[in-house]
Amino acid sequence: MAQIIDGKVLAAEVRETVASEVQKIKAQGGTVRFAAVLVGEDPASQIYVRNKQRACEKVGIEFELHTLPATCQYEDLTTLIRRLSADVKINGVLLQLPVPESVVGNRLTEILNLIDPQKDVDGLTIANLGKLADGVNGLVPCTAQGVLYAIQSVCPDLTGKNVVMIGRSRIVGRPTSLLLTNHDATVTICHSRTRDLAQYTRNADIVVVAAGCPGLVTAKMVKKGAIIIDVGINRLPDGKLVGDVDFVNVEKVASAITPVPGGIGPLTIAFLLKNIVVAYCRQRVC
Ligand code: NDP
Repeated sequence: MAQIIDGKVLAAEVRETVASEVQKIKAQGGTVRFAAVLVGEDPASQIYVRNKQRACEKVGIEFELHTLPATCQYEDLTTLIRRLSADVKINGVLLQLPVPESVVGNRLTEILNLIDPQKDVDGLTIANLGKLADGVNGLVPCTAQGVLYAIQSVCPDLTGKNVVMIGRSRIVGRPTSLLLTNHDATVTICHSRTRDLAQYTRNADIVVVAAGCPGLVTAKMVKKGAIIIDVGINRLPDGKLVGDVDFVNVEKVASAITPVPGGIGPLTIAFLLKNIVVAYCRQRVC
């Protein structure tokens, strides 16, 4: 049976470090402040933002929520993002995704790039993704950092490991594959157009899946002793939350596996907090 990689325990470790860094900053008279922008009334997004707020408050980061109705204009959003980016009291700015298409159309990238890269705590601006591609220190997307941390909790050295990354989104797949490559893993990126996915996963020492397809990774697709990182979050019709891995059966083949819930989700929020403090320190040069 595989070792369960407990994301809640790992996230608590990261949060503890962040909380002590925030305490040090406060002791020197500083304030770490984070602004989240929420457009529309999507219930899932409201929950995600509330979780971020709670997480910030627990470690002493000041949290501001800026909401716009789904009926707002594109320019209302750009004005708000520009204002928050320019506000010297704010250290981190995040636009909660997805943003209603009626507001952004196909201009989401343009909007994200209005966030000052130094405050881009989601790491999704072209500047930060470019730095990641170049292997230099920018702000790295939170889920990618969570995946790396989870892997390193059971396999500290990724050098030469064969990793299969299923998913190539801007938010998860691409940055994660870049980050793991920067840690000397040999990364193969698979996606919905990949022919015979199992041919790749069967040779992988580590499989990371972020596809949004329940049961996509089955036991037959996994090499004995592989590490399985499940980023997927899917709500089944009966209300149950599952990942992209057939957990019950893959657990019997893998050496370590992340559960859903309680795996990469908590780590993603913990690394958001970490990025906010990193952003503060780079802005203040502390
Ligand atoms: P996207 O829909 O943007 O991307 C999904 C990716 O998976 C795409 O690259 C797609 O390929 C690929 N894909 C879809 N179906 C298959 C398939 N059958 N075989 C192989 N590849 C496939 O999703 P996100 O990256 O935003 O999120 C992925 C999952 O991770 C979701 O379940 C999401 O809820 C979850 N998530 C979890 C987080 C966490 O903190 N745990 C954080 C963010 C997301 P193509 O490019 O060809 O379309």
